[in-house]
Amino acid sequence: MKVSARFRHRHLCGTLIVSITFLFSCAGFVAAADQAIALKAARLFDGKSKTLMQNGVVIVQGDKIVDLGSNLPIPSDAKVIDLGDATLSPGFMDAHTHLTLDFSGNYNDRRLRELDQNVSEHAIKATTWARDTVEAGFTTVRDLGSRFVGSREFVDVALRNSINKGIIVGPRMLVATFGIGATGGHFDPTAGFRAGLFGREPDFSEGMADGPDAIRKAVRFEIKNGADVIKAAVSGGVLSLADEVDTPQLTPAEMAALVDETHRLRKKVAVHCHGDQAGREAIEAGVDSIEHGSFLKPETLTLMKNKGTYLTPTLMATEWILGKIDNYPPALQAKAKAAGAARTEMFRNAVKMGIKISFGTDAAVFPHGQNAKEFKLMVDLGMAPIDALKTATSNDAELLGIAQKVGTLEKGKLADIVAMPGDPTADITATERVSFVMKEGKIIRNGPLSPKTAVRSTDEPTESAFAD
Ligand SMILES: [Zn+2]
Repeated sequence: MKVSARFRHRHLCGTLIVSITFLFSCAGFVAAADQAIALKAARLFDGKSKTLMQNGVVIVQGDKIVDLGSNLPIPSDAKVIDLGDATLSPGFMDAHTHLTLDFSGNYNDRRLRELDQNVSEHAIKATTWARDTVEAGFTTVRDLGSRFVGSREFVDVALRNSINKGIIVGPRMLVATFGIGATGGHFDPTAGFRAGLFGREPDFSEGMADGPDAIRKAVRFEIKNGADVIKAAVSGGVLSLADEVDTPQLTPAEMAALVDETHRLRKKVAVHCHGDQAGREAIEAGVDSIEHGSFLKPETLTLMKNKGTYLTPTLMATEWILGKIDNYPPALQAKAKAAGAARTEMFRNAVKMGIKISFGTDAAVFPHGQNAKEFKLMVDLGMAPIDALKTATSNDAELLGIAQKVGTLEKGKLADIVAMPGDPTADITATERVSFVMKEGKIIRNGPLSPKTAVRSTDEPTESAFAD
């Protein structure tokens, strides 16, 4: 009895070991946790140097980079992935996305969709946009606002948590929950609808706050519910129906409360701002980044430089709107044209003056996954390609406060690594053709995009024939 039981036990163990070995060898990319991966490519951008390294090799073990260098000897037991005539880079970051939203189609159709679909359906769609984003090479995003009129759901928090738990595939997210703003301002979800339609005026629980104390309450409420960063609108905006694009919308006292409360709770403040007066007051109040900044004058940019405030230009947003101008009501067309005309000079000035620039696109205004088109827009307006690459790697990591973990290829950092064909310093559009994506040592993509993703990335969502 004893002998046969022991035999059975041994036999079972043997089968188990064989099956596990078989599983790992079949899955290929699902390498045993401790097997090193050696990534090789003709060039390597480390996120901070002025030039590319030739014959780059990065050794990854578990979720970290354990070594890197030019022509580095490869450990004999490492799995080698030779990417050939490509450039390795830290995973890109986008400091301004809205992964739970899609504003890329017709403006009024989108407003109607938002009203007749429940929030759960929006959330399910957001999971595909998260995948599109990471597959395009963006391994981290700062997601600056998620809101559905009449709803208090924290869809961005749910999306971030589901990605962190490995339930769905997506980028690392730092989320802002509801953008904070004034009644009737750019973030008022009921602005443009008739008064009383939703039964009540939105309050702090949807980011609406008037007066310093109300602002503090909104900040505390959002951080209590999972915000990693605070977003506020200090000026008007393009895609809002009840305001002018550049009017100041928070008072200096409200901005001081916003910054003080957020910094006390050890978070950063990003402010939506097109107007110059609002920008100057926000920079003086100590915000961490100005989003958009279309109308900022040289004196305001000088103040920004002295304070070390980041500019997140979101060139893609205006570019997309101006390219599809008929999709927007006339009032918004006029605002987009004014902001688009002003931002060119502002951005050129910012580059010349050496302002800290972060990479941020406002993804949602255009279809998710096209974030990398921002690189070319920055280069076309005077930024050196290597500096454009830095905005989406080391600069964003510093702005997001995560530079000790990601943003550069260095020993000990998390293995967030992408590869693109050719040399991005010779042709910056190589960033739009990322072919390899690794996040925390796990390969998300190696080769062409799946056809499904290609369908999801068109500007109008494809509906099934059975939808009606
Ligand atoms: Zn935005």
